[in-house]
Amino acid sequence: FLKLDDVKKSYDQKSLVVKGFDIAVEQGEFITLLGPSGSGKTTVLMMLAGFESVTSGTISIRGKSINKTAPYKRNIGMVFQNYALFPHMTVAENLAYPLSVRGMSKADQKARIAEYLKLVELDDFGHRYPGQLSGGQMQRVALARAMIFEPTLILMDEPLGALDKKLREQMQYEITRLHEKLGFTVIYVTHDQAEALSMSDRIAVFNDGVVQQCAPPAELYERPVNAFVAEFIGENN
Ligand code: ATP
Repeated sequence: FLKLDDVKKSYDQKSLVVKGFDIAVEQGEFITLLGPSGSGKTTVLMMLAGFESVTSGTISIRGKSINKTAPYKRNIGMVFQNYALFPHMTVAENLAYPLSVRGMSKADQKARIAEYLKLVELDDFGHRYPGQLSGGQMQRVALARAMIFEPTLILMDEPLGALDKKLREQMQYEITRLHEKLGFTVIYVTHDQAEALSMSDRIAVFNDGVVQQCAPPAELYERPVNAFVAEFIGENN
């Protein structure tokens, strides 16, 4: 479904941040990029979203390169830690935004918004402003906004980073539940090993500009390909 072939990125023409990223993702898979701070995880998501250009290599969806496709035409949902809701718009208006830019009629928007508010269990919150919500409620709205136009791929960059432990665990469950129910593909970025291990179909351990190993959690534990993977996965566990 989604393929990255030898994708490289340099910001300054000299040093490569991403030195050759290869991965093939099946439709509906939950893939986590796990790696130390500064290893280039966000950079990979930015290239997927189309906010950063690819220096070389190819990103393709269903066999077609999207290297030159404008971000808004990629049909990719996003939940970023700092990708805030529009503060001057109500929850319902925030959810309407990705629908109206895609030309959906007002009546269809209304029905779709009600459906997704229900899905994230915020049925009665449509009229509230983001400032009147808790952190967890805001993240649920952000999640609903990323899903509401029914993209096949959703990128999540540390979406739970700002939440306390209890809320984090609740939201991990929430995201897993919605992923199973709706079947979209997820590329998830975190540096929380426990979070990655509990949520992912496969984890791509990323360091030094390349994927060191991409495998299901149990396999990373049992058969790490090198010392970096063994130590990184073992940390905090
Ligand atoms: P973290 O876990 O800390 O968020 P990360 O793995 O997501 O880190 P990136 O944010 O992708 O890492 O950054 C990788 C490297 O690229 C860093 O050295 C960073 O300084 C550099 N970098 C990121 N964005 C830019 C930019 N717009 N211009 C120049 N350098 C950048």
